[in-house]
Amino acid sequence: MKLEELKNDIEAEKFLIEIGVLNIKEECPYCGSNEVYSIRRNHFKCKNCRREWSKYNGTIFKDIRIKP
Ligand SMILES: [Zn+2]
Repeated sequence: MKLEELKNDIEAEKFLIEIGVLNIKEECPYCGSNEVYSIRRNHFKCKNCRREWSKYNGTIFKDIRIKP
């Protein structure tokens, strides 16, 4: 990946967070605990209730299949 593409990707993500489409709050969506950690890219797990979720859960991206 070229640096230019990565930069655009980050800026696109920042924009989506700003307008509230993308939710990357590091807080458990199930119990509200902030004792969460990343288990892999874009996936988090709660230390309190031990549930897992994706960064894109609850957004428009959940149901979109990105084609190469
Ligand atoms: Zn939790």
